[in-house]
Amino acid sequence: MKVSVDRDRCCSSGMCVTNAPDIFDQDDDDSLVRLRQTSFQPEQFDVLRLAAELCPGGAIRVVEDGEN
Ligand code: SF4
Repeated sequence: MKVSVDRDRCCSSGMCVTNAPDIFDQDDDDSLVRLRQTSFQPEQFDVLRLAAELCPGGAIRVVEDGEN
């Protein structure tokens, strides 16, 4: 699985950080999302999918293995 965040779409809601603080963080200066990790373990996949689904800005992109 690959995960990316689009800071131009992030509206700083903090939802992702609330749900997965080990994976997501917010910048101290502008509160925009940052990823804490660059690779992910299978046990994190469900929470990553949920974070992408719940993000109000559509800023989190999850690409499953085998997808483009
Ligand atoms: S849930 Fe989406 S909009 Fe909210 S901080 Fe995370 S990436 Fe940004």
